[in-house]
Amino acid sequence: MTHYPEGNVFFRKLGWEYPRIVSGKGCWLRDDAGGEYLDACGGAFVSNLGHGVEEIADAMATQAKKVAYVSGMTLTHDAVETFANELTALARGDVKKVYPLTSGSDAVEAALKLARQYWNEMGKPAKRRIIALAPSYHGNTILALSASAREHYKTPYSGWLVDMIRVPAYDGDALERAIADADAGTIAAFIAEPVGGSSSGALVPPAGYWRRARELCTKNDILLIADEILVGAGRTGTWSALEPEHVVPDLQVLGKGIAAGFAPLSVVMAPQRIVDVFANGSGAFNHAQTFSHHAVSCAAGTATLRYLAKHKLVERSAQMGRVLHDKLGALKQLPIVGAIRGRGLLAGIEFVDESTRAPLQRSLHFAESLTRAALDAGLVVWPNVGHADGTLGDLVMVAPPFVVSESEIDEIVSRLSGAIAKTISQVTVKS
Ligand code: PLP
Repeated sequence: MTHYPEGNVFFRKLGWEYPRIVSGKGCWLRDDAGGEYLDACGGAFVSNLGHGVEEIADAMATQAKKVAYVSGMTLTHDAVETFANELTALARGDVKKVYPLTSGSDAVEAALKLARQYWNEMGKPAKRRIIALAPSYHGNTILALSASAREHYKTPYSGWLVDMIRVPAYDGDALERAIADADAGTIAAFIAEPVGGSSSGALVPPAGYWRRARELCTKNDILLIADEILVGAGRTGTWSALEPEHVVPDLQVLGKGIAAGFAPLSVVMAPQRIVDVFANGSGAFNHAQTFSHHAVSCAAGTATLRYLAKHKLVERSAQMGRVLHDKLGALKQLPIVGAIRGRGLLAGIEFVDESTRAPLQRSLHFAESLTRAALDAGLVVWPNVGHADGTLGDLVMVAPPFVVSESEIDEIVSRLSGAIAKTISQVTVKS
């Protein structure tokens, strides 16, 4: 274990005891003291193939030995051409041009800027406002954070953030009203997660929502941006989480699992009909990042796509997702469990006050204590708070690598139940 201020690392959490991980294989991580951890959330929903996959490491090394990096400003290379080819073969509809970046926040930031530049180039500069949902999370750079309904991340930066049109998640009537109230002539884009990620505890939209959202966007000349950073790349049991809705977005962003944690990689995907407007107008997308189109990251992406196909892991995400949800169902008997949501290998477990069924008091820090108790029991889960009203609403997310076995799912449920029981006893003692 290590913690701040030991060493020279500026840790993400300055009061946390960090196990020091030295290796990983499949769903398991090992620390420097020989402790083993069952990774039930792939880090931040990233390690979809599991840890220690040699094919991906080899593909990256091969590319790095050929050429690791050239600037996307002046040169291209096989790694990005192949990755874009193989990625678009999986895409539904016409989102076939791929702009690789490095993180989800980058990709969201770029997609929103792309939407605004598109309307500028179309001679409609008044179309610049963005509609986004609550709850939602789209990243931590200023524009992506502005789009996110995560008040505790946003409060310190008030005055720097951009005003968004905020609409309750997955309510088609509210979306229609918001468009009418704001005037479609001022709206550039609507951004949303096709299935909720950690900010909503894997909220699944009601049937018909996406068709209606698509119709409203088409009718009002609003670009529909699907943020598939967390729920795409097979996490919800299909390659894209919008696929089962038979809806095609105008722009799509993917990240996290797309290179399964072997390299930082995200993409903005756009149709030629949009990119052509730039090509025939100013001649370029007015956005640049040093590490866009990165050769080694793209090689990791291609190797990940091939590994997913070779081992039928998206199908496995659907199949093991059913097992996961079935087995997690046992936790519903616990009075503190309010709901369990999700699809495929993505599950959100919400905690409520045992008697009132209202969200837990934030002062209890239930989600954080549970995450610590789980870690102490050798289980890594992802906590979140604020899904109920921006502040209240404790939950943990379970999203194991797609290679998870049935017995590992049993182990996840058993370790999680033990950690919940321990946390309840600690919280009761404290309160
Ligand atoms: N969009 C969604 C839906 C996310 O869940 C996240 C991260 O959790 C992001 C965007 C931002 O991605 P990143 O943390 O890689 O910048």
